[in-house]
Amino acid sequence: MSRVLIVGAGLTGSLCAHLLKRGPGMTAHQVVVWDKARGAGGRMATSRSPHNPRCTADLGAQYITVTPEYADKHKSFYDEMLAQGILKPLTAPVKGMVMKEGSENFVTPKGISSIVKHYLQQSGATVFYEHHVTQINLREGKWEVCRKSGSPEEFDAIILTIPVPQILQLGGDIVNLISTSQRHQLEAVSYSSRYALGLFYEVGTELDVPWAAQYVTSDPCIRFISIDNKKRGIESSEVGPSIVVHTSVPFGTEHVESEKESVQQLILQHLETLMPGLPTPASIKCQKWRYSQVTQAVVNCPGQMTLHTKPLLLCGGDGFTHSNFDGCTESALRIKEALEANL
Ligand SMILES: Cc1cc2nc3c(=O)[nH]c(=O)nc-3n(C[C@H](O)[C@H](O)[C@H](O)COP(=O)(O)OP(=O)(O)OC[C@H]3O[C@@H](n4cnc5c(N)ncnc54)[C@H](O)[C@@H]3O)c2cc1C
Repeated sequence: MSRVLIVGAGLTGSLCAHLLKRGPGMTAHQVVVWDKARGAGGRMATSRSPHNPRCTADLGAQYITVTPEYADKHKSFYDEMLAQGILKPLTAPVKGMVMKEGSENFVTPKGISSIVKHYLQQSGATVFYEHHVTQINLREGKWEVCRKSGSPEEFDAIILTIPVPQILQLGGDIVNLISTSQRHQLEAVSYSSRYALGLFYEVGTELDVPWAAQYVTSDPCIRFISIDNKKRGIESSEVGPSIVVHTSVPFGTEHVESEKESVQQLILQHLETLMPGLPTPASIKCQKWRYSQVTQAVVNCPGQMTLHTKPLLLCGGDGFTHSNFDGCTESALRIKEALEANL
């Protein structure tokens, strides 16, 4: 049985694992997923309060926006997630939201990472966390994959679904296998940077605002605030509320190399001016998204890039399309095609 390694347990990696299981002849392949993080989700991250695991906050992606074009193109994905209750229409009020005509927004009652967990579970792939890939080498027709701690392992094919700058940071033979023109294409990719703050509250805390989320235009630091449990339609007397704050991109860019603690304090000061008198949270999580959303995707390379054919080495992710569910789905579908054509 040949072994296929997917690097990245974010949306693209989980969709790849799910789609590969369904492909013709794919039962002959063992699919393994490695991620450097401690859990699934990537930028579709749901964090838990250290005081109560039922109190959660989506620190990355907030909701899934379905445009008429993709509602049709990716209908089977949406139908399945709606039927399973993974997605529910966003009904709570969002102040300042600009909607394109015919588009619809969906939230995830169990947190945005539940989408990724769903596809990983469906895939039957073996998933390993805290597996940080550092080097990829060619060894007698196979790939030898090294990680930060632990012994290297061999695979017959690799699919990289990590942000493009992180592909370019990998060491080993991969450095010389990427052609000059591919390297230029990859180096031209750019992402915005921003910070997210998750504030977790004790049971019974009242957050008395008439909206579930709002886009802020009057503050240089904060761009978006959400009462996360309200946004997801899961308000409960048994679980405390949570707030998510996203910074603006200029603020994220300016502070990308700053100390997280000082950035957290700055964001909290701005939050106090926008929402004076907020109760004190039981805990706070500050997340830096160095690679938040793609501002310039790979050009002339829709969905995936084949770095090597024998053995196969592909890369994909939102850096090859655009930063949302449909971008990741599009990439995963192109990866599946390339894999089936070459394996
Ligand atoms: C703040 C924010 C708000 C957003 N809002 C929305 C939204 O409202 N709606 C929407 O649809 N999308 C939104 N997005 C975009 C969306 O989250 C992304 O497009 C999508 O999650 C990208 O998925 P991915 O699998 O391609 O990459 P990622 O989610 O980045 O997954 C890559 C995975 O690879 C792992 N990894 C990286 N390097 C290594 C390595 N060397 N070894 C092993 N593992 C590694 C990472 O830990 C990560 O889990 C938002 C993103 C952010 C950050």
